[in-house]
Amino acid sequence: MAEIETLFTRAKLADGSLNDIGVAGGRIVAIAPAGALAGAALQVDIAGALLVPAFVEGHIHLDTSFYGDKWIPHKPCTNGFDVHERVAFQAQNMASAAPMDERARKQLELCVSNGSLQMRSHVMVDDSVGLKSLETILGIREEYCDIIDIQLVAFPQSGILKSPGTPELLDEAVALGADLVGGLDPASFDRDIDGHLDVVFGVAEKRGVGVDIHLHDFGSLGAFTVEEICARTVALGLQGKVAISHAYGLGDLDADAARRIGAKIAAAGVSIMTNAPGDHVFPPVALLRAEGVNVFAGNDNIRDSWWPYGDGDMLARAMMIGYRSGFYTDEELTAAFDVVTSAGAKALGLEGYGIAIGARADFVTLAAEHVPEAVVAVPKGRRVFKAGRLVAENGALVR
Ligand SMILES: [Zn+2]
Repeated sequence: MAEIETLFTRAKLADGSLNDIGVAGGRIVAIAPAGALAGAALQVDIAGALLVPAFVEGHIHLDTSFYGDKWIPHKPCTNGFDVHERVAFQAQNMASAAPMDERARKQLELCVSNGSLQMRSHVMVDDSVGLKSLETILGIREEYCDIIDIQLVAFPQSGILKSPGTPELLDEAVALGADLVGGLDPASFDRDIDGHLDVVFGVAEKRGVGVDIHLHDFGSLGAFTVEEICARTVALGLQGKVAISHAYGLGDLDADAARRIGAKIAAAGVSIMTNAPGDHVFPPVALLRAEGVNVFAGNDNIRDSWWPYGDGDMLARAMMIGYRSGFYTDEELTAAFDVVTSAGAKALGLEGYGIAIGARADFVTLAAEHVPEAVVAVPKGRRVFKAGRLVAENGALVR
């Protein structure tokens, strides 16, 4: 056993046991019943609080949030929800917003202070902004690299085939530092599922990166697109490296059809991201998990041109997912928690995640008896540790 540098005492783990946790070199090197470990120069008393792995923010937009900026009233679409119109509203709002780096910092600090230490952010890449947004967010990622790990998705917010030069920009974005290639409604936005996916999976194959596609299409169109993405994932051997964000169409299917497509998604190793959004259908979380699908979550938009909600708290997101899914039993509440922790880690392909010997010492303390209570109570007053170092307390960063 490596020599313990920091000893966290009296930490309650998810199984209810009270333990001491030894950390060295940013990793957990020992877990033993409270009082059994000694000798570390530095001790941190967890005082019986629940200690859980840091949350995984699996889907956010660091470039387009107005959190911390002036309040921008939401403008409804003129004739029902229309992605094209929302993108146009976004461009108008962005023109008068505070500089992107300032807004991204505020959003990141909100997320870290709530306990997210791993994140996947989509960043807009299109013919209007080119790679400028990505360059800004790459700089922010570097600035915050000691307190949060960030994956970036090159996100074609204006479509791929309808936005001239975007196929090339997506490729350049990955060369510049984006970790994954994104997509957007291949059918309803570009009106060409194959043409759109040819570009997305072409870049993924060429650059050896994963894929995370926004798919808002409802009904059978959405479900059909899910099947197409799964087929391409299997054809390229990209199992475990592809995610579909939103996949609302899965919430429109009857249970038998949902189970059949769920089995296909699970077999293709494709993860499904949901934020349990407002007033419409979303993927059936319990049914998909029962079929073996990895369902993870994110805040998605926080105070941006799409909606005014979002608080950067993945525990609150677990509560919302549980609430909208009708999760009541301890088992179901624990599943909602898994969606914002372990399932997120799996979707992001994170190494060393969890509370275990050898894992990274990235954890959060919660004033709760156990995980089910944490999900319904969403306690604040958290302490957040990155690599065994306190980085946030009571909702604010510790510098
Ligand atoms: Zn999104």
